[in-house]
Amino acid sequence: MPLIIVTGLPSSGKTTRAKQLYDYLAQRIAPTDSSTPAKYRLHLISDDTLSISRTVYDLSPSKVPAHTRSANASEKDARAALYGAVKRVLSDRDFVILDGLNYIKGWRYQLHCEAKAMRTPNCILQIGCTPDRARRVNEERIRKEQQQQHPGGEKQDGDVIPEGDTTEAYEPGNWDNLVFRYEEPNPMTRWDSPLFTVIWEDDEAQTRKTFDSLWDTMAGDAKPVVRPNQ
Ligand code: ADP
Ligand code: MG
Repeated sequence: MPLIIVTGLPSSGKTTRAKQLYDYLAQRIAPTDSSTPAKYRLHLISDDTLSISRTVYDLSPSKVPAHTRSANASEKDARAALYGAVKRVLSDRDFVILDGLNYIKGWRYQLHCEAKAMRTPNCILQIGCTPDRARRVNEERIRKEQQQQHPGGEKQDGDVIPEGDTTEAYEPGNWDNLVFRYEEPNPMTRWDSPLFTVIWEDDEAQTRKTFDSLWDTMAGDAKPVVRPNQ
């Protein structure tokens, strides 16, 4: 069953949509009769589920921890952990949602090859969000972190982060750099297709439509047959 690779700018709403997709798929795969065992399993893998810090993406020399081999070694280690986690569960019985930046096309290609080796398809769920909006979310997260250290700050107009969301912010230079490095998925390539898009403004009905289309394409009767030598 498919590997669904979520991708989008930092703080663009990826985790929110990944969780919505998780809930949607959980409903779709639930057996109608409780005495029958579930045919499929569902997994959500992310930096957060593997406790990977945002700092692993920071390439500024001053931010690299002393024990790290080179500026991007920590990110490579993080990718290896994510890869291992995907590989452990991916099969023709498992739906795997990989929630993360997934911004390097070579990385998406590698995941595509892994899925193919497991004879299961992959697709991309791109989260569309303007850089301005995503930046505001990250700035709000930074403000919240500062508030926790020095309580008493004011809430600002346009704040979207609910109480209780303790997601780590990106340091501003790290955020800018990740947006600069972001490699847009290209649905003309086989590893970035099929590609489904949900944008920030999509309401519940529109999001459901996109999820329905993802389900029909990836798990419906016409689901792709993957042969490893293709
Ligand atoms: P990311 O995983 O890309 O960092 P999150 O899903 O954690 O982004 O979202 C960042 C913040 O924006 C969260 O507080 C979330 O509640 C809010 N948010 C995300 N998507 C939307 C949306 N479509 N509409 C309104 N708020 C959203
Ligand atoms: Mg997230």
